[in-house]
Amino acid sequence: MDSDVIPIPASPPIDPEAIPEEAALARDKRSLRLTWHDGTQAVLSAATLRLRCRCGWCTRDRLQDRFPAVEQDIALTRIEPMGGFAVHLAFSDGHARGIYPWVYLRELAREAAEPARAA
Ligand SMILES: [Zn+2]
Repeated sequence: MDSDVIPIPASPPIDPEAIPEEAALARDKRSLRLTWHDGTQAVLSAATLRLRCRCGWCTRDRLQDRFPAVEQDIALTRIEPMGGFAVHLAFSDGHARGIYPWVYLRELAREAAEPARAA
């Protein structure tokens, strides 16, 4: 059978600087605090993380304009590092399909730090 071989990178294309030194879940489980080696720190709310989920289901729902409303008091129910490049997050609304690469979380952290520029 004729086929095109798809090159697969030997290692994930990740900026090692994007991996935080520490990820801490707030006691009320409504935010995640990330600290990077360069001293940058960001607190991302569970609501923000849920709203910005990039999984296939959420992407589809956004395209179809039926992404569910997210309660401000939504909580994180599970945080599971995945292969060093990402973290799997589960939420109290039952959504647990989101894989968040550290690179993406750093982007969200930068956005949170510069709200004026995101507008
Ligand atoms: Zn999702």
